[in-house]
Amino acid sequence: MAGGSREKTRAVIVVACFVAAISAAILLHRRRKRSRSSSPKIGGGSIEKKPQEKFKRVLADNSYSPFKHLKRDDKGSPTELHPYEEEITHLLQNPPVLPSFVSDNGNAPLDMSGSYTWVDTEPQLKSLAGILSGEKVFAVDTEQHSFRSFLGFTALMQISTVKEDFLIDTIALHDVMDILRPVFADPSICKVFHGSDNDVIWLQRDFHIYVVNMFDTAKACEILSKPQKSLAYLLEVYCGVITDKTLQREDWRIRPLSVEMIKYARCDAHYLLYIANCLSSALHTKTSSETSSFSGDKLKFFFEASRRSNAVCMQLYTKETEPSPGTSAATSIFSRIFNKKLDLAKVSELKDIIWKLCAWRDLMARIHDESLRYVLSDQSISALAVKLPKIPQQIYGTMTESPSPIVVSHIDELCNLLKNSNLRIDDLFDNILEMRLDPVGCCPLSAYNYALLSQLSSKRGDMFNFSLSGSEKVAQTGSKRASRENFIKKFSCKSPVYHNCRIYASDGRLLCYCDRKKLEWYLQRDLAKMVENDPPAIVLLFEPKGRPDDEDNDFYIQSKHNICVSCGEEKHYIRYRIIPSCYRMHFPEHLKSHRSHDIVLLCVDCHEKAHKAAERYKRKVAEEFGIPLFVQKIVDSGEEKVIASIGLTNNKDSIGGGKGVSPLQLRTAAMALLRHGSSMPSERRDQLLETVKTYYGGREVSEKDLESALLVGMNPNERRRFGKKKGLPLSSDYKSTTLINNGFPSNIGNGENHSDNGHENVSYSDNLHNNDSSEACEVGVLESDRRLSLLGHGPHGKLVVEQLLENYGEEGILHFCQKWREVFVEALQPQFLPGGWNIKHSGKRDFGEYSVYNPAKKA
Ligand code: AMP
Ligand code: MN
Ligand code: ZN
Repeated sequence: MAGGSREKTRAVIVVACFVAAISAAILLHRRRKRSRSSSPKIGGGSIEKKPQEKFKRVLADNSYSPFKHLKRDDKGSPTELHPYEEEITHLLQNPPVLPSFVSDNGNAPLDMSGSYTWVDTEPQLKSLAGILSGEKVFAVDTEQHSFRSFLGFTALMQISTVKEDFLIDTIALHDVMDILRPVFADPSICKVFHGSDNDVIWLQRDFHIYVVNMFDTAKACEILSKPQKSLAYLLEVYCGVITDKTLQREDWRIRPLSVEMIKYARCDAHYLLYIANCLSSALHTKTSSETSSFSGDKLKFFFEASRRSNAVCMQLYTKETEPSPGTSAATSIFSRIFNKKLDLAKVSELKDIIWKLCAWRDLMARIHDESLRYVLSDQSISALAVKLPKIPQQIYGTMTESPSPIVVSHIDELCNLLKNSNLRIDDLFDNILEMRLDPVGCCPLSAYNYALLSQLSSKRGDMFNFSLSGSEKVAQTGSKRASRENFIKKFSCKSPVYHNCRIYASDGRLLCYCDRKKLEWYLQRDLAKMVENDPPAIVLLFEPKGRPDDEDNDFYIQSKHNICVSCGEEKHYIRYRIIPSCYRMHFPEHLKSHRSHDIVLLCVDCHEKAHKAAERYKRKVAEEFGIPLFVQKIVDSGEEKVIASIGLTNNKDSIGGGKGVSPLQLRTAAMALLRHGSSMPSERRDQLLETVKTYYGGREVSEKDLESALLVGMNPNERRRFGKKKGLPLSSDYKSTTLINNGFPSNIGNGENHSDNGHENVSYSDNLHNNDSSEACEVGVLESDRRLSLLGHGPHGKLVVEQLLENYGEEGILHFCQKWREVFVEALQPQFLPGGWNIKHSGKRDFGEYSVYNPAKKA
């Protein structure tokens, strides 16, 4: 290395060390204060929100289920095996030689005065993949963030070739990092790491990236019996570079990264190739000095280093498991505070409370995607267990750090847990789930916790049959659990939604793609003949009215993929109605014909997002039209209950706004009160009672009212099922308390049953028709009134549509539909909408004489 550049490097490093020392001091100060602001500002950069909330593909979620590794299409290998087992095994048996490479300045360690490339767009990443595929060797390091995340995530990846340093923003590129999968898995390209054990499994966990062919400089140190094998040591010895490793613990999520962090990050990969070269030579020298040159294993030591490195690649990421949530932390916390003078009863009591606190913390951390220590520190858990504070202020005072937002927002549960030593942990989890279901609940549904929730509802019984005291046996009481499970199961499509069956006109022109049902409809009536089997296609035997290209109907001749139209997720999807059914079911029949255009597939994540935006917009519609969303009042008048609902009476008081109680909100509140009313914190009880009272027009409610409330919004079938499960008689009492129907029979499940659960969109009646589609589900439901009940947003939708038709006619409806599509597009920015989909889609189609949709035929 030229003297000048070495000086420069030294100067830079001195500055870096100085800055690092200051940052460390700041960090320490912060730690002491435990400021938990979600947008910390360190070194100039900052964080807007938790960046992982933007991730669309989360491979390792926070559920208790095992991690799923990459399945390679080309290999029929079972999932337990390493997807690249074969390639790695081959390398272990035939260790590759470290490719020799020469840098611009003849293999001296390059200084870092040159520029680096910040990679944060997909095209840049693709071009990087192209560059790397042409290299024989490159160096890699990663930084990860673990404080504001349950499992941690890779926040930065550094890649250096002999010529160039790349810093890859793995947060911005999280969902497309698989672009680098091929170069990492390419056995002909050597990847140089230092201390690769963590990096290897983090790459698997976050991106399904598997390293094949690696040279780990730390493994080389082992074999060379170096006095130390830290990177800092190698940098100093081989490159004369002094580093400050405290930057390692910086918050790598911040953007832009500070100058020091950039320097530090580059430094971790930049010199690795040079160091690998030096170590490789040393290994060769060692071989020739210690073995006879005739023995045939000229590369013995080098091969051993290579073998050990590739053995690391064979490791597979797994989620940590424990017999029951919180047990390992509880055991370690207990052993730290255990005092031999305690009597046996006290010991078991202490163990019990510590375990409960740990179990609670574990669930909270998973639900909110935070680290355990962010939620509540071990120190605080032991302090709480020893002191058993009973009220929020005492709890906050006992904790050794300032309470996390999670502790604050769940303080009721924590109080309850500390106050009530008989409280069973599964009851507590029940309560938490009820909170989750609460539309104003504090725990957001995300890709990280979705699987956890469905799992909890089915597995909780098994999860807690082990406790530290060993005495707690948990019985499963699970009707709610089961119904929740069903609820979730019900909503993701079990089989492909789009069958992509084709219908041709007699002249051979493609008319549309559709489902099997629709084909059968024509076949059974001898209106078509089958022309192809797989996938099926028919030719119509009559001249259809209208061709796809007559209007803006090219949408219908696109085959559609069974993926989330927003993010492309293919593993699961749910139908989403862009125009909420509470409005659409009141549209004139011929305007409903563009149904398949406005029903799309979304993954649960995107579904939730879209639903939230739709609910927001519904409230806006409610304001604008002066038509509230929910039934407002039920007034007791003697024996008979009289329902006053806006639009059905002309009660001016109740006009405006979207206030009211949804059936689900009501049921959830009533259920919680009936099951846990006596044990729940009073504030929570009052809050829930308020919900029920609002529904009953503000009057006091009795236990019987609560029981009736459980049935609100259910159709007779559901009510029967529910009664059976609960062991409730289906008494006339219950029948009479289900709303009076003022000309709107509620005998068919209404489409809005789950309106506040992120799934309003999936209606029971549509589920009856299921499978394909969108297209088929309208058949057979003629009188829209049959689907209208007093519940949900039915009445609201009817009035809105009536008002639209009255004031603007059909144009009004078309415009209204366009607004809804805009709301959808704005909320999701969908990337995978089928070709031909468009916000302005008019969907005007005439029905031919034989059309499935011809209203006359339907009758
Ligand atoms: P490195 O291998 O030095 O690049 O470190 C990679 C990542 O490991 C860092 O971004 C940290 O998240 C984590 N890490 C490594 N060592 C420590 C440590 N001593 N304390 C906290 N985090 C660490
Ligand atoms: Mn690093
Ligand atoms: Zn999606």
